[in-house]
Amino acid sequence: PILRQADDARNKVLIIGATGFIGRFIIQASLDSGLPTYILSRRPAFDGDDHPKAQAIKAFQDQGAIILHGSINDDQALLEKMLKENEIDIVISVVGGGNLLDQLTLIRAIKTAGTKIKRFLPSEFGHDVDRADPVEPGLRMYKEKRKVRRLTEELGIPYTYICCNSIASWPYYDNTHPSDVLPPLHHFQIYGDGNIKAYFVAGVDIGRLTIKAASDVRTVNKTVHFRPKCNFLSMNELASLWENKIGRTLPRVTVSENDLLAAAQENVIPQSIVAAFTHDIFIKGCQINFSVDEPHEVEISSLYPDETFRTMDECFDEFAAKIEDKCPIEASPVMKNVT
Ligand code: NDP
Repeated sequence: PILRQADDARNKVLIIGATGFIGRFIIQASLDSGLPTYILSRRPAFDGDDHPKAQAIKAFQDQGAIILHGSINDDQALLEKMLKENEIDIVISVVGGGNLLDQLTLIRAIKTAGTKIKRFLPSEFGHDVDRADPVEPGLRMYKEKRKVRRLTEELGIPYTYICCNSIASWPYYDNTHPSDVLPPLHHFQIYGDGNIKAYFVAGVDIGRLTIKAASDVRTVNKTVHFRPKCNFLSMNELASLWENKIGRTLPRVTVSENDLLAAAQENVIPQSIVAAFTHDIFIKGCQINFSVDEPHEVEISSLYPDETFRTMDECFDEFAAKIEDKCPIEASPVMKNVT
C-alpha cells in the first residue's frame, strides 16, 4: 500500500474526452484526488466561447486542469512530443463510440514515447468486449474496442480495462446517456420477463474508482469489473424501487426480445447500438453469465473492500427530487404485459 500511495502522488494523468458523458466523471475524480491532471481537447482555444463544452473545459481549468489542444488522431509525432514534453504517466481515453479507432494513433504514440507511460486506459467503460457478443450494430463497436485492446497488448503497453457495466439510471433502450433523463413517469418498458439482473454504477463511482485503479500496481494488464452487490437489480426490481419513490404504480409494458432485435436491425445510430446492448444485458444476461476468476481480471470491491457505492435507491431519490409535481400515492394496480 505504501508503494501505491507514493506512486499516486507523482502520476500525471492525461484525459482524452473530458467533455464527454463518462469523461466528465473521470476528470472530476482526477482533480478531486489531487493528481496533476491534463486534458486533451479538440476545441480551439479562445476566450469568450460560451459553448457548454468550452465552459466545461474552463471550469476544469479553474480547478487546476492543464489544457492541451489537439486530437488523438493527429499526427503521431505530435502526440508523442506532447506526451514526452508534459511527462505524462497515465493516459485515460474516454472518447465516444464514434471515435474509438482514433485511439490507434494515440496508442502508437504512447509506444514511441517510450517507457515513461505507466498505464493506458482505453475507452471501455462498459462490458467485457472479449466476452460479450451483442447483435449488430452493437457488435461493430465491440470489434473496434477489441482492435484497440489487441494493438495495446501487441505493443506491450501496460493497460487496465475498466468494465463498469451499466450507468446508474433507468436503462432506456434507445438512449446512450440515460442518466441524463428521469426514469419513466407514465409507464415502464420491461425487457422480456424483467427478471435478468444487471449491475448499475453511478458516474461518480466510475470516476473515483477508475482513477484509483489507474495508479494501482495490482491492476496492470488486468480487466477490472465493477459488480457492486448493492446495485445488482432486475428491471422488475428497478421498477418497484422507482414506484416507491414516486408514490404510485405505473403500467408495465413488455418489450420483447423480438422488439429489441427489430430496433437493433433498424440500424439507426446510436439508438440501434443501445438496443443491441439492451438485448445483450436484459435478455441474454451478458453481465452475469460469467464469473470473474481469470488471472488477468479482478473485481473492484476485492481491490477496495472499504469503498462504498452510491446505491440505486440514492440515485432514484435524486431523480425523484427533480420532479416538481410529485403525485400522491394512488391505489392503482400495477398492470402487467399490456402489449
Ligand atoms: P461522449 O460522446 O459523450 O464524449 C466523447 C468525448 O471524447 C468528447 O469529450 C469528445 O470531444 C472526445 N473525443 C472524441 N474523439 C476525440 C479525438 N479524436 N480527440 C480528442 N477528443 C476526442 O462519449 P461517452 O462518454 O458516451 O463514451 C465514452 C465511453 O464510455 C465509450 O467507450 C462508451 O462506449 C462508454 N459508455 C458507457 C456507458 C455505460 O452505461 N456503461 C454509457 C455511455 C458510454 P469533443 O467535446 O470535442 O466532441
